[in-house]
Amino acid sequence: MPSLDMLLEEIVTANRILAHEGVVDSFGHVSARHPDNPKRFLLSRARAPERIEKDDIMEFTLEGDPVDARGRAPYLERFIHGGLYEARPDVHSVVHNHSPSVIPFGITERKLKPLLHMCANIGHEVPTWDSHDKFGDTALLVESVDMGRDLALAIGSGPSILMRGHGATVVLTPGEVDKVISRTGPYTLNRAWENWCRRAGRPYQAELA
Ligand SMILES: [Zn+2]
Repeated sequence: MPSLDMLLEEIVTANRILAHEGVVDSFGHVSARHPDNPKRFLLSRARAPERIEKDDIMEFTLEGDPVDARGRAPYLERFIHGGLYEARPDVHSVVHNHSPSVIPFGITERKLKPLLHMCANIGHEVPTWDSHDKFGDTALLVESVDMGRDLALAIGSGPSILMRGHGATVVLTPGEVDKVISRTGPYTLNRAWENWCRRAGRPYQAELA
């Protein structure tokens, strides 16, 4: 388990990488479960991922309440993260994005499936969550605990989910990390992570990878 300080640095790095690789733009976010308290999670204040610094990372309860806001405004959609950490003890990281490349799959009957080995982590078939089913007309944002819990219900035990007219959410479990490492080894996994870190102008913390 990484120390809190190292994990905070890695959350900054993950934000910068997602921005640099075009997965998120000014919106979208990545969080991690608190390493010392499984009922808390760590997520930046409301800021573009490319601009996030360590001091922007806030601690939240699973209901999405900031533990010590210090004047920092949280993301409206923090309930995505809280809902998933609450429902899935196996989940240690959550990425929510509005990547244009996945949006069409949320409105078509065609299912999003992995077509090459590097995509296997999306699961066999990606479900779609439609907020209208339970909440009717909304701004298409996950802005309450109830919505976060409903999204978590829809993802079930899977690793990813599409959100109609909105984007996608992806979770990462220790078991998946173990399997990826066993299949690829640090030789491959570290190669990609180091490359993404350096491209995003962030230090590479090899001991975490
Ligand atoms: Zn969103």
